[in-house]
Amino acid sequence: MAGLIDVGANLTHESFRNDLPNVIERAAGCGVRRIIVTGTSLAASEAALALAAARPGVLWSTAGVHPHAAAEYDAATEAGLRTLLRDPRVVAAGECGLDYHRDYAPREVQRTAFARQVELAAASGRPLFLHQRDAHADFLAILKEQGSRLPAGVAHCFTNGPAELADYLDIGLYIGITGWICDDRRATDLRAAAACIPLDRVLLETDSPYLLPKNLQPAPRGRRNEPANLPEVVLALAAYMGHSPEVVANATTRNAEVLFGLNAAEH
Ligand SMILES: [Zn+2]
Repeated sequence: MAGLIDVGANLTHESFRNDLPNVIERAAGCGVRRIIVTGTSLAASEAALALAAARPGVLWSTAGVHPHAAAEYDAATEAGLRTLLRDPRVVAAGECGLDYHRDYAPREVQRTAFARQVELAAASGRPLFLHQRDAHADFLAILKEQGSRLPAGVAHCFTNGPAELADYLDIGLYIGITGWICDDRRATDLRAAAACIPLDRVLLETDSPYLLPKNLQPAPRGRRNEPANLPEVVLALAAYMGHSPEVVANATTRNAEVLFGLNAAEH
């Protein structure tokens, strides 16, 4: 498989501090030549852009505040994100959304920070990189408030079933699939949904260092996931979509180029 794009990798995570060049080289050796580094706070988004700036044409980044960090979202944070989103290497607003599974920030605070970032994406002409866990109804309501102003976006690490999938496709979202689909215990809903994802709406991501594909043999020491494992996601996803891995690989690469404008943003 050639030319895969990992649209969500947390390469600013401390677990990559000592060997990031090797990680990127290993990914390329496995056909993963372009990676979008997820930003989860203002500081992490600035660090993600710094990584992208050092590796043109290989790394890009996103700028946003994860729902876990929603309490830090204030006017200064928003101004910082707005500045980052003017940079052509910053190709999406987010990671932003709602997480009622962990509830690390009060829900009202999460909803406000999320709605502000949806506005920010619309104003800056960038697609959204979206996180949702156990908050489907509120999440959908905030996106639908935008009506026809809603930017394009990806429901990153989609793990739900066919009903939630239909809601997201309805509002034009792309669907980000991670190694969750390799998890025999947790992926029942997702595997049912996978058969209903149109080829022109699907994206691939590892969410590294999280969500190590459960079927990797042997499991790497430390259980750190990395972009080189993306082909495992393609193989599992293709089986549940009912297409060949090549068809899914090509479609996801094209979709990522279209959604994030990667060709236009190359520098
Ligand atoms: Zn997430």
